[in-house]
Amino acid sequence: MDDTSKTNLLNLDQLAMQQFFIELGEKSFRGTQVFQWIHQHGVTDVTQMTNLSKVCQQRILEHCTFDVPQIAHDQQSVDGTRKWLMRLADGNNIETVFIPEDDRGTLCISSQVGCALNCTFCSTGAMGFNRNLTTAEIIGQIWVARKALNDHDKDSQNKKITNVVMMGMGEPLLNYDPVIRAMSIMMSDHGYNLSKYRVTLSTSGVVPKMYDLAKDSECALAVSLHAARDELRNELVPINKKYPIKELIAACKMFFADQPRRKITFEYTMLKGVNDTMLDAKQMAVLLKGVPAKVNLIPFNPFPDTKYECSERDHIVRFKNILVNAGINTQIRKTRGDDINAACGQLVGNFVDRTMRSKRILEKRSQGVAAHA
Ligand code: SAH
Ligand code: SF4
Repeated sequence: MDDTSKTNLLNLDQLAMQQFFIELGEKSFRGTQVFQWIHQHGVTDVTQMTNLSKVCQQRILEHCTFDVPQIAHDQQSVDGTRKWLMRLADGNNIETVFIPEDDRGTLCISSQVGCALNCTFCSTGAMGFNRNLTTAEIIGQIWVARKALNDHDKDSQNKKITNVVMMGMGEPLLNYDPVIRAMSIMMSDHGYNLSKYRVTLSTSGVVPKMYDLAKDSECALAVSLHAARDELRNELVPINKKYPIKELIAACKMFFADQPRRKITFEYTMLKGVNDTMLDAKQMAVLLKGVPAKVNLIPFNPFPDTKYECSERDHIVRFKNILVNAGINTQIRKTRGDDINAACGQLVGNFVDRTMRSKRILEKRSQGVAAHA
């Protein structure tokens, strides 16, 4: 049997793993044991899975693989942030970021190779899109990061990765099933045992999928708002033309309707002279009335050839105060890892763009150079 006809066990959530082991002629609990070896203990060498019979080990060797991304590049910021470029089996590369803080360690993972949505202030969007990640490639980012941080098999009080945010490359709700499966492995007590409050999916507003997500996962939700009126949001977050603000807010009101203590985080990137007036803040306060909301203001992180600049610091503080005075819990996100391009919206990986978007940008760039020469 060649490797392509084998099953990569990193693609299976706990239930699928049990089912798979029944098909292999084993009892379902063997599936749970292997699941624990992989995700709890970080072990993928079958001979080290000491509670399995020799026959079972042999069956696994014959029918299964344990494929995870490979680290192609490892960078560390002066502030302790780590960024890994991870190479996938097809040669594409994605980025994963670890952000250590005093009371937590957050892993920011990618859900797609690039992104098809083209938000105007995001460098991932500008690079175009190649393909969706598999469950194994999504959960594999945690598996690999834990290895690199030597974070496997510690008692749960001392874990380095305590939170996961789906805020790397890609729009997670446009890669729905693999993302749901990967998040279930993160939250499983036989997997990474992260609580539902510590696994956050961030979406730019794929409204119909938000209704599915409310049924299929208990994860926390972040919504990339960036503008409180359709005219401006259509420009910044083009998917708004398909799912306008009114529909987005209705989906947000539904999302935690049966969990009244939970709040949605609204992300708002501060773009100087574009979406940062005091009127914008007031409109946002009105929009979020009656929505279980907290707000994260993100200082814009620049990237080559962007037309945007970040709002001034004291301006961001004034914007924040308007929201706070309207009773909305609002934080200004600390920029981390910008010296290694690991901050929000700076992740680009290294891949073949299928949308031709990056080619158009390069052409524009070279025409610009010619014009200035
Ligand atoms: N596609 C998803 C998740 C990935 S983007 C989404 O859009 O929500 C994660 C967050 O970074 C989003 O809120 C996004 O709007 C923000 N972001 C993108 N580019 C940025 C930039 N250049 N500076 C600051 N934040 C940015
Ligand atoms: Fe895609 Fe999110 Fe970037 Fe928009 S902000 S282009 S949805 S990754």
